[in-house]
Formats: sequence, structure tokens, C-alpha cells
Amino acid sequence: MEKMKVGEKFRNRLKDKKRIVVKIGSSSLQHPETGDLDYTKLDVLVREICDMRNKGKDVVLVTSGAIAVGKKAVHMKEGGRHGEQTIAEKQACAAVGQARLMMIYQKIFAEYNQVAAQILMTKNTILDNLNRYNAHNTFSELFKLGVVPIVNENDTVATYEIEFGDNDSLSAIVAALVGADLLILLSDIDGLYTDDPRKNKDAEFIRVVEDLSEELMEMGKPSTGSDVGTGGMNTKLVAAKIATSSNIDMVIANSRDIKVLHRILDGQEIGTLFVGNEKIYFDLPEFVEKMHG
Ligand code: GLU
Repeated sequence: MEKMKVGEKFRNRLKDKKRIVVKIGSSSLQHPETGDLDYTKLDVLVREICDMRNKGKDVVLVTSGAIAVGKKAVHMKEGGRHGEQTIAEKQACAAVGQARLMMIYQKIFAEYNQVAAQILMTKNTILDNLNRYNAHNTFSELFKLGVVPIVNENDTVATYEIEFGDNDSLSAIVAALVGADLLILLSDIDGLYTDDPRKNKDAEFIRVVEDLSEELMEMGKPSTGSDVGTGGMNTKLVAAKIATSSNIDMVIANSRDIKVLHRILDGQEIGTLFVGNEKIYFDLPEFVEKMHG
């Protein structure tokens, strides 16, 4: 029998995952031409998640889009009302947009006979022991009830000091908090390359990362000029660090076709897989404390 490839072994493990966090970014939810919501994509996303539920898996959705949807709803221009969008304007947009976004998710989840819930977080949810304990208990209870928690940053109150800032890191933190065994980041990129594929035609696609070395983490930082993959890889590598250090496998895949979700769970070689490491000691609150902000 042909020897099983290393990547294949890790991919096969994905078939047995029980608790999955799926993260989708704002740009993956909008029509690029108008910035309006792409209902077809939203529908496929929710259907895929409901199908995971029907297979008996616990699923959490971490979704962005609050600010973008709110801006559209109140017809706010890119630069806000005075040339540069103020924090209060952004927070007001988030207040409008988050409610709208949830209304749409609730509607689609209900169509597939699933109940969805909303959890909004700030850094304090992790840093404060009581908050963290409560959040953990709420998630556990929601799983017991068969509900799909929908998570976002609490953008209406979070300013620099207490914000995670990006939902890539937030989704990995949520995955660690709820004891997930898989995190899937749906993004506008295919995964990790050895270099920026738009600038270097010799850039090679990396299918599996078994050891997230410091060298690789450095490559993701924009300041180094090396720029692995496309922009935004840095936050994805930070997410990979949090996830893999918490012994959680993580896959980055392109959201162009959201149906990749069930293919990933079928063990197909899609996107880049970061393999969870069971041997690392990882203190979540300590890590969050040291994060920017
Ligand atoms: N929390 C922000 C929003 O929902 C987005 C943050 C991100 O996309 O990383 O608008």
C-alpha cells in the first residue's frame, strides 16, 4: 500500500472534529461592486453550518460586518460626516449594523430550523476572571441547547484599550475559550504562500504547517517586507499561533466558494492547514493581556 502522505494524515483527522469555529470576514460577505451584503454567500454559509449541526457537531460562527453593514444602513460616507470617521460614528454604525446582521442571520438560521444566539466580546471578557468564567459557561450551555453562537467584537463600546481589533485573533481566542478542536478562517486569500503570489510568480503554496516557527511568524509581519501571502496574513498567523498553541487545528481557506466548509471536514486538501500542538503550555489571558491595545 502506498505510504500515506504527512498532509493526508492530518487532513483525515479533520473528519472527526467535534467542535468547530468558523470565521468569516466583512469582505467575504459583501459584493465588491457595491459593498452591499451578498445574500447568496450568507445563505450558503448558514446552510453549511446547519449541516454541520445536523452531523452532530457544535459550531460557533465568528462574523464581521457590523460596521460595514451599519455604514450602509445610515448612508455614512467613507470619511464619516466630517472628513474622517470618528470613533463615535464607527461605534454608532456598529450598533446599527450588528443588529441588522443578526436579524439576517436569525432569519436564515430559522429557515434551516436552527436557533442562533449572539455573543459580543471585548478583551475584558477574557482578561477578567469572572467575565471569562461566565462567557465559558454561556457557550457551554448554548452547545447543550444545540444553539449556534454568533460572535463579534462588541464594537459599540470597545475602543483601543479593550478591543481585539481584528476578528482573526478573536476567532482563535473564542476557539481556545470554548475548547474547539478546529478553527476555519474563511478569507479572500487561498492560504499561506512562501512569498506574496501577486509579486513573486515563484511563490509556492504551503499546504500544511506542522510547526509554526518564530521565523514564519516574522515573515507575516508587514514591516519585514517579505510579506507572506497577501496583506492581512499577520493577523492570521497570530490566530494560528493562538489556535495551534491551544492544540486546535486551523485551516485558512478562500471564501470564494463557501461550500469548501464541508469539503474541509471531508478531509480534502483545501487551503493551508496549521496543525495543533498538544505539547505547548498556553495561557490565554496572559497572551491577550500582551496583545496590542
Ligand atoms: N468587528 C468588526 C465588524 O464587525 C470587524 C473586525 C474584523 O473584520 O476583523 O465590523
